[in-house]
Amino acid sequence: MADQSSSHKKIMLVDDDKFLLDMYAIKFSKAGYEVKTADSTDGGLKLVRDGYIPDVMLVDIVMPGMDGLDLVNAIRKERLAPSAVMIMLTNQGSSDDISRAKKLGVDGYIVKATTIPSEVLAEVERIINSKKT
Ligand SMILES: [Mg+2]
Repeated sequence: MADQSSSHKKIMLVDDDKFLLDMYAIKFSKAGYEVKTADSTDGGLKLVRDGYIPDVMLVDIVMPGMDGLDLVNAIRKERLAPSAVMIMLTNQGSSDDISRAKKLGVDGYIVKATTIPSEVLAEVERIINSKKT
């Protein structure tokens, strides 16, 4: 049985690392989330431009072309998912990414050293819950 608190919550995962993307997709699905994935920023932007409105977005920063922060910025500018909780995946020690993420006003970030899916799930739920209260 999926946890009541997360059932039917829609999460969009964007990461160019397909291995991580698949691992997280399985973990979040099992936890009761409706999952959509994109392996590029263009793919993620297309999903929301086509009308998909996620409750939560988990977005890698380092991707080819437009990066994850540019994607969040574009989604915000176009007001495509105004109430989505925005969570970034950052590389360990990248203070530049973290300061850009803070400037954009994202809801949280997860350092990619923590890539164990259960830990990422727990951290995402902690960020979602901290936003509610
Ligand atoms: Mg990446």
